[in-house]
Amino acid sequence: MTKKIAFFILLVLSFNLYAQDNYQKIVLKYGKHPDFHRFVFICEKSETIYSINVTLLKDGKIKLTFPNPFEIEFNGRVLSSQDSIKDLRILKEDKTLIIETSNIDKIKVSRYDSPSRLVVDAYWVKILTEEKIKAVSLLIDPGHGGEDYGLQGKENNEKNMSLYISKEVASRLIQKGIKTSLTRTTDEYISIKKRVKMANNMKPSLFLSIHLSSGDYFVIYTSPIKKNIPKDDPSKVFLTEDKLVKIFAKKIKENFSEPLYTEKLPATLLKEAYGPSLMIEIPKRVMLSDKNYTNKIIDLIVQAVSEGFKTKSIKEKIKNE
Ligand SMILES: [Zn+2]
Repeated sequence: MTKKIAFFILLVLSFNLYAQDNYQKIVLKYGKHPDFHRFVFICEKSETIYSINVTLLKDGKIKLTFPNPFEIEFNGRVLSSQDSIKDLRILKEDKTLIIETSNIDKIKVSRYDSPSRLVVDAYWVKILTEEKIKAVSLLIDPGHGGEDYGLQGKENNEKNMSLYISKEVASRLIQKGIKTSLTRTTDEYISIKKRVKMANNMKPSLFLSIHLSSGDYFVIYTSPIKKNIPKDDPSKVFLTEDKLVKIFAKKIKENFSEPLYTEKLPATLLKEAYGPSLMIEIPKRVMLSDKNYTNKIIDLIVQAVSEGFKTKSIKEKIKNE
């Protein structure tokens, strides 16, 4: 008799629970992609989809807050309060759901109708293998050389200053573990054609040509058309030319009083050298042998280049060293 009553009470309770309008049933679908997890929450009511709050917690877990109590069905079964989908742990409470992921860098949340669904894509940080980090390389091109002096000041000239700055930048980057080469290391004349050839043989992640401007300003040139941008080179770890220019622009604005002009220049060097290629002209003031100022310029280039890496793991590696 008592058993029957208990069963009846249980039945009424559960009936009440499910009878609540608010109680939502959500179907979850999950897929693991090459660089992200995709969670799709399907719910009959579109209002619910629009009022689910999704946040990425500091420890890389994903938290979903629902407007009402809910139950989640995954692969035909209802998830319990501590459950798992594939190899991910799930914690479910009254109105919250926590998905325990690790190494998640960012999430993208989208909402769609028919069927009403919330899609959460959680991207993980790509850890580059040592091999790929080693494949990162820079080719720095000191402008002019030999009989080609470039700009001439009273005591100094462009060919010497661009070589000095290029060498300093290269040695700082090499110290950070980045493979860096120069198109010239001595005062010699090298044709544009030969510089392009070096870039195309070496296939660097970035080609950076260093010159002086004829005034108190910076100029960065990129090519309007580019022949040799590799599409899916696995070692391609650099940002696009335009994004690199933005990084330079920000750093120049923060640290220098001289303005920066950017320009698209269909120069052979930029157009035909392999990979992202920039030509930076620095204020001619560096010819005045002001050590502090020259060091500031070297810092600028080293920092901007270091920030130009697409991958967090490299950026962190550089920062920590
Ligand atoms: Zn020049």
